[in-house]
Amino acid sequence: MRIFDLIKKEEKRQAETLMLIPSENYTSKDIREALGSCLTHKYSEGYPGRRYYQGNKFVDKIEEIAIERAKKLFSVPHANVQAYSGSSANAAILFALLNPGDKIMGMSLSSGGHLTHGHPKITFSGKFFKSVQYEVNENGFIDYDKVYKLAKGEKPKLIIAGITAYSRVLDFKKFEEIADSVGAYLLADISHIAGLIVAGVHSSPTDYAHIVMTTTHKTLRGPRGAIIMVTSKGLKKDSEMGKKIDRAIFPGLQGGPHDNQIAAIAIALEEAGKKKFQTYGKRIVENAKALADSLSDKGFKVVTGGTENHMVLLDLSGEKILGKLFAVKLEKAGIIVNANAIPHDPYPPFSPSGVRLGTPAVTSRKMGPAEMKKIAEFIYQVSSDPGSVSKVKKEVQQLTKKFPIPDIF
Ligand SMILES: *Cc1c(COP(=O)(O)O)cnc(C)c1O
Repeated sequence: MRIFDLIKKEEKRQAETLMLIPSENYTSKDIREALGSCLTHKYSEGYPGRRYYQGNKFVDKIEEIAIERAKKLFSVPHANVQAYSGSSANAAILFALLNPGDKIMGMSLSSGGHLTHGHPKITFSGKFFKSVQYEVNENGFIDYDKVYKLAKGEKPKLIIAGITAYSRVLDFKKFEEIADSVGAYLLADISHIAGLIVAGVHSSPTDYAHIVMTTTHKTLRGPRGAIIMVTSKGLKKDSEMGKKIDRAIFPGLQGGPHDNQIAAIAIALEEAGKKKFQTYGKRIVENAKALADSLSDKGFKVVTGGTENHMVLLDLSGEKILGKLFAVKLEKAGIIVNANAIPHDPYPPFSPSGVRLGTPAVTSRKMGPAEMKKIAEFIYQVSSDPGSVSKVKKEVQQLTKKFPIPDIF
């Protein structure tokens, strides 16, 4: 079985390398069992109690539990757990609330937003909607006054507050004021930071946004998937908003939900409700700060000068090798990162000036600040001494052996 050979190899690769991509994480065995279960055989178009297929007695219960857990964990009155992934969830939200050609406003990709936040020309969000984008300032921070002015001038119908490469806390209250001042919907896309919000180390958008979307597989540590939530504020603006979201997902954009994925999401939400998860969330941020400090000490330029979340963005524009080449070099040493644009990057997205590092996965492996210091040292060695790669690789293997991937969290 060639595929199983390759899966075994991938398992070994994951065990022996440092997973520093901020959107990646490990799942518990329970989650993987649910994903690989017989639920993948079932068709369940519709919603609990209103299915187009028979045989959904147990699937209904599973989806109801997932919805209830999402509502409780994020304190929202409505949740939809059927979106296949974050991008399709964002598509459903825009489809539910807007008409083609309406104006949306999100943060540009190079400033740290997501493709689905209105990236022009090549994405649905930039093609089917008029998109205006805000940028971070020269120091890499969101300038809320500028966002406010842009919103005032452009009057978008929907504003997105969300990040994929921004290492500072988002001020959802300020975003609320901006959205309210122009009568726009506020969508908080918390895909990257949901786990930090649950753990109480990042402010929650629940009181400020109309809609909250999160992927389930990043800091939240679940299977791939997404949850779309309507807040009380959202329902106050439009009492039909929950129904509109549900209808946009099915039958608007998707067919049968992935019941195995929904079961795994339900398990992930239970795990995230445990006390241990709070500790994990706190440690993610402590580790990111330790990593940022150690890298700064080694002379690396950290965008915004540090971090308040799970991620560190390095600006390599003054270095000999830029993002992509550096990421490839680090991979040879067993350190897995991704090249990433830095604010106002003069280079194109496939060959950008920076790299993005994140601490969720290494924190799941129970590493702490001392290990972050070591990792910074490894990264420095690879960058300063081309001959050090095989030595660093061995040290990475020793470190990862000491911190095996846990099965149960
Ligand atoms: C990851 C991410 C998405 C998209 O999720 P996929 O599951 O990759 O489709 C959307 N928005 C933000 C902010 C993200 O970080």
